[in-house]
Amino acid sequence: MAEMVNIAFDLKMGTEAVRVALTVPAAPIAARRLLPLFQGIAHQVIDAAVGEAEARGETVSCKAGCGACCRQLVAVSKTEARQLRTLVDAMPEPRRTAVRARFADAVARLEQGRLLDDARRLDALSDDEMVTMNPRYMALGIPCPFLEEESCSIHPQRPVVCREYLVTSSPALCASPAFAGVRPIPLRAHLSRSVVMLEGGEGDYTRVVLATALEWSEAHPDDEPEPRPAAEWIDVVLREMTGRSIRGG
Ligand code: SF4
Repeated sequence: MAEMVNIAFDLKMGTEAVRVALTVPAAPIAARRLLPLFQGIAHQVIDAAVGEAEARGETVSCKAGCGACCRQLVAVSKTEARQLRTLVDAMPEPRRTAVRARFADAVARLEQGRLLDDARRLDALSDDEMVTMNPRYMALGIPCPFLEEESCSIHPQRPVVCREYLVTSSPALCASPAFAGVRPIPLRAHLSRSVVMLEGGEGDYTRVVLATALEWSEAHPDDEPEPRPAAEWIDVVLREMTGRSIRGG
């Protein structure tokens, strides 16, 4: 049986601190195998934010069957883009071919809409270009390739950023490129931004537009980081999230 180690740290949210205790493999591990763990940490933050919203008398309006936000520009970490490709590759036929066809269609529609080049260089865009990027993307009406019957078909494995997007406003507003009146639940931390650091670093905050995740991961098969001990990966993410090391640094 694989040797395991225990890790514990305090996750501070506002004035509250949540003690997080994890048991992880001692042997080096690929970063993407830890994504479920990071999703779990993200939910600690999200659940706390939902609790605060409910205490203010607000109600989350997101529910199964509303895919309004799934036609927005969704940017994921490189690590999650690789994992989405692994997920699709593991799908049984004919589902795999159908999902792959939806990815190809999304890329073709981005190209027709003259947005593919910008989607491929998301983090090189200027602030002004970024401001207009999501409305331009939404105007094309491209559904996420995982959207089926207006619900997420990979709900348990969806990227962290999809988990973090919860609103208390009318669902219809999320479908409007103007985005006016949308009230997202404010989070004290965004783990979706921190997991980018699993394959990022000084001056490198590259994210991948979800609709291009397959083509990106197929174009980058050899530059996945070497496995590292889980404690090191967790430290990379939490240092980005909290500014503190879980290893006492
Ligand atoms: S992965 Fe799921 S939740 Fe995220 S945009 Fe796609 S369909 Fe929506």
